[in-house]
Amino acid sequence: MDALVRIEDLSVHYYTLTGVVKAVDRVTLDLPRGEFVSFVGESGSGKSTLALALLRLIPPPGRIAGGRIVFEGTDLVGLPEKKMKGIRGRRISMVFQDPMTSLDPLRRVGEQIADVYLEHGVASDKKEALKLAGEALEMVGMPRDRVYYYPHQLSGGQRQRVLIAAAVALKPSLLIADEPTTALDVIVQAKIMDLLEDLMRELKMTVLLITHDIALASERSNRIAVMYAGRVVEYGPVDAVIEDPLHPYTRGLLESAPDLWGEKRIKGLPGTPPDLRRPPPGCPFHPRCPRRFEPCDKVDPSYTRVGDRIVLCHLYSG
Ligand code: ATP
Ligand code: SF4
Repeated sequence: MDALVRIEDLSVHYYTLTGVVKAVDRVTLDLPRGEFVSFVGESGSGKSTLALALLRLIPPPGRIAGGRIVFEGTDLVGLPEKKMKGIRGRRISMVFQDPMTSLDPLRRVGEQIADVYLEHGVASDKKEALKLAGEALEMVGMPRDRVYYYPHQLSGGQRQRVLIAAAVALKPSLLIADEPTTALDVIVQAKIMDLLEDLMRELKMTVLLITHDIALASERSNRIAVMYAGRVVEYGPVDAVIEDPLHPYTRGLLESAPDLWGEKRIKGLPGTPPDLRRPPPGCPFHPRCPRRFEPCDKVDPSYTRVGDRIVLCHLYSG
């Protein structure tokens, strides 16, 4: 695999008054260049925290507690903030869930895209930056003249396109999209996903989609990483993960996704994810796992390679 990002033993903790939340716990994986990779898992599994770590934007009381994020050969974890600013928005960009909270309602969308060119010194003045903003809008399938529109004059889907335009303005090699279509209806959702796929091919960029929707992830991705309680429990090519899930949690997620395995097989996952301040001993999934056996509540599993997948489960170790 031609790795764009190598994540090695990455941990991110939130140091709260009630305890340390291990939101991302010893994650190791490579993100390939020019592919569509989805991170799936229930709410609170650590997906957004992992995405924010890649941008070094973990809010207090959180911080990267250990590990490395090697992006295009540079470890981002120890990088001075000044250098990180040159990477953020230029080499690694992010699109968030709700376009309304990310856009300033009082400024024309063109000016907001133009900011990216001005901040990174790509345009020397506002006029040139606005011209480039028009080109960025065309890249996401919108007419240039929309640069003069205010956010409220656009539909939800168009607003999301504006944010994507700003995110890809400088042709990053990694675009992170955190639940980018949750606020949109299914038809608009499909169009935004088509756009992300087109941009991935055109710009030879890696797209990292964060979603709780394993059906959506399986339609769009080349690879899927399944997160549970801060850990990536299974990671591999989409067909293998969907057709023959190795980890009992992946299987549970698939069995609760009606679109994927047919309604007859809907079971739903019993129980709830653990409190990440006090995760259970051993495998964090053991209280909910239908296949737990002798070592599971005592010994923490470590990664095992199975074909071109990695899995974190005692069923495959040794
Ligand atoms: P969602 O889909 O709901 O966004 P997620 O999988 O993206 O969930 P995260 O938002 O990364 O998960 O949260 C992982 C864990 O970290 C959760 O237990 C959450 O409560 C905790 N957490 C997230 N942000 C903070 C914060 N600012 N302070 C304290 N704990 C936090
Ligand atoms: Fe289930 Fe044990 Fe595997 Fe955890 S390690 S997923 S409890 S079988």
